[in-house]
Amino acid sequence: MSDAFRDLPPELSTDLAYDTLAVHTGIERGTGVGVGLPIQQMAAFQFDSLDAAAEEFQTNTGSSYARIQNPTTKALEARVTALEGGTDTVCLSSGQAASFTAMLSACRAGDHIVATSSLFGGSVGLLGNVLPLMGITATLVANTPDAVRAAMQPNTRLVWAETIGNPAADVADLSAFSDIAHAQGALLGVDNTWGGVGLLCRPLDFGADMVTHSLTKWASGHGSVLGGSVTVGTAHDLSRNPIYTDGAPSLLAARGAGALAWRQRWFGASQLGMVLPPQSAYLIALGLETLSLRLTRECETTLALAEILNAHAGVGRVNYPGLSSSEHHDLAQRYLSGGFGAVMSFEVADPAAFLSRLKVIRMAPNLGDTRTLVVHPWTTTHGRMPEAARRAAGVTPQSIRMSVGVEALADLQADLMQALS
Ligand SMILES: *Cc1c(COP(=O)(O)O)cnc(C)c1O
Repeated sequence: MSDAFRDLPPELSTDLAYDTLAVHTGIERGTGVGVGLPIQQMAAFQFDSLDAAAEEFQTNTGSSYARIQNPTTKALEARVTALEGGTDTVCLSSGQAASFTAMLSACRAGDHIVATSSLFGGSVGLLGNVLPLMGITATLVANTPDAVRAAMQPNTRLVWAETIGNPAADVADLSAFSDIAHAQGALLGVDNTWGGVGLLCRPLDFGADMVTHSLTKWASGHGSVLGGSVTVGTAHDLSRNPIYTDGAPSLLAARGAGALAWRQRWFGASQLGMVLPPQSAYLIALGLETLSLRLTRECETTLALAEILNAHAGVGRVNYPGLSSSEHHDLAQRYLSGGFGAVMSFEVADPAAFLSRLKVIRMAPNLGDTRTLVVHPWTTTHGRMPEAARRAAGVTPQSIRMSVGVEALADLQADLMQALS
């Protein structure tokens, strides 16, 4: 399947810059062809011969039935692949669906995952509540190579991290995690949602084997739609994972380098049906066209606000890897380029009073919206986690998480200052 995905349209070179790939990938050329992505709102696609039908069901390179593949979603997949520097992507109904699919592509009953503890709450839920039902266990550890190495077991098939942790804004040492995982034939999966679809970080370049996104966030960019993606590169080694080597022919023998992506599409889309609708794929592809404009500006505003809040007597700890005082600044400089992300967290003495005074900034549990949004993680996004786990994720009763939008810096600053006074 991968070639067809990568080469849309065929003359587009992946040497092009991010901004160019973001607006051209997936859009056909030709007389009378629309300048943009068509929404193919349909459940099934025709075959002109029995041979063509049989071939499609073997290879899944084209379109047959929309649970397996839809051309609009396929164009978005090509775009995400190009922006992440991968070879193949499957887009799914949400970031949650993408994480679940990625985890299931590396593990089966009896297997083990080592994950960092500063994860998005839904990922902690998958690892703690859902995967154990399938006999897959997980150990959550501090976001450091030593902690990850110490937690590895002979049956560990996957190391899981987020480029920038949520909401502590700690940066994962991706190359070190990759070395630890690969030393025993395990995969490194990275949730790169905060890395902005390859704009701030391309984890595949640092040894990750698969990269997931909640496309709901900066990719869609306007808080209008849910979506997720799993992107793979070529470097992964599946030769020590029985999922891929058992059986005759094994999945690895049958699918070669495409085996990982094939299993992800097979499970996430075809078998579990966690399909991204074409309308949503269209909106996310549209969002990607301005991702770099939005996120670059948002990163600048976030850094400015982090510095202002860090110097404010009424604010406790500020977590933002762009601050030179952050203990994650060195890792941020190594792994991030073009900005340090558009989310920070900070502590205020009285969160309820602070939140009630905001006039421009809104309270809502989303990230990557054009509008600046805040939440109180202790009672909301992380509210169902045990207290120790919340604190391990960097959440305290005083924490506020803020995802910075595209508003004017001066207006956001004034709103925060009046709410703090
Ligand atoms: C939001 C989010 C998810 C889950 O994505 P949904 O699209 O809401 O399912 C996963 N990881 C991170 C880092 C997120 O911010």
